[in-house]
Amino acid sequence: ARPLLQVNDIKKYFPLRGGFFGGRTGQVHAVDGVSFHVDRGETLSLVGESGCGKSTVGKAILRLFTLTDGQVVLDGQRIDDLPAGRLRPLRRRIQVIFQDPFSALNPRLRVRDILAEPLRSFGMAGSRSELTARLEKLMDTVRLPRDALSRFPHEFSGGQRQRICIARALAPEPDLIVCDEAVSALDVSVKAQIVNLLQDLQSELGLALLFISHDLAVVEHMTHRVAVMYLGAVAEVAPRRSLFAAPKHPYTQALLSAVPVPVPGQARQRVILKGDVPSPINPPSGCRFHTRCPYAFDRCKTERPVLKLVPDAGVNAGHWAACHLHDLPASQNPLAA
Ligand code: SF4
Ligand code: MG
Repeated sequence: ARPLLQVNDIKKYFPLRGGFFGGRTGQVHAVDGVSFHVDRGETLSLVGESGCGKSTVGKAILRLFTLTDGQVVLDGQRIDDLPAGRLRPLRRRIQVIFQDPFSALNPRLRVRDILAEPLRSFGMAGSRSELTARLEKLMDTVRLPRDALSRFPHEFSGGQRQRICIARALAPEPDLIVCDEAVSALDVSVKAQIVNLLQDLQSELGLALLFISHDLAVVEHMTHRVAVMYLGAVAEVAPRRSLFAAPKHPYTQALLSAVPVPVPGQARQRVILKGDVPSPINPPSGCRFHTRCPYAFDRCKTERPVLKLVPDAGVNAGHWAACHLHDLPASQNPLAA
């Protein structure tokens, strides 16, 4: 079956504005050749440190700007090149939840009007009584009391506001919701509630989620697959279990080594990376992780690795990594099983 969303080798370069980065000129390679797909009803998590380009990928899918190169395909139709006048159906099918539930809601509108707005804009409001029935059902769906509809955003806690944002995203019955750090600003216990809600909604409604997060502990709890980004590129894509149990990219290994393991006594081997993430203005040649990789060898400095199925993960594992180590004999590959 064709995937719901297919992202093909997308690139987004931003021109540098004078004064930034010490007055240097050039381009920021925010996203530099990213490909992945999301299936119907699936959660794909896009993870990586801040600045790796994951939010830019999310914005590209939401058509918040034009790509430098590449394609975004929704249900077999290219959406990256749709003219502005034809974006409405797309806006209905792909919704978004942002990190900050405080600034995301208009403080002057009652919840009823916040939720009715997308329904009206997509011509889905129906009669007055149909609209009320829809809004009440949305409240039930996100587990808020129906009388919340007549209240204002400031009357709610952060977690409740995020439920309102989820209800607004669900209102037009989308196929995909982009969750950009959607639980990152919430307290730990509230975070768990919202993650559980998203999981419940996914199975009830068959929603696909693109879950953008720097928080691997949350991701490990709820995702189907994970795509790890480093410096504008995808380092590794794999099903959750396979990725967390046996990462096949040295960067993923380092990222995971910093995540607490739920089972005491099973700590992951700690990997400390040297140096900082290099600038996306002039990313390193070859493998962009080579300046920090503990396993880098000659080839890594000149040849950019492409995502390949990792053979020793099992041919059906769907585990992809962009790392030259997997071309070596297993005896010379420190990441081989
Ligand atoms: Fe490290 Fe080379 Fe693999 Fe890049 S390609 S992650 S530098 S071993
Ligand atoms: Mg971000």
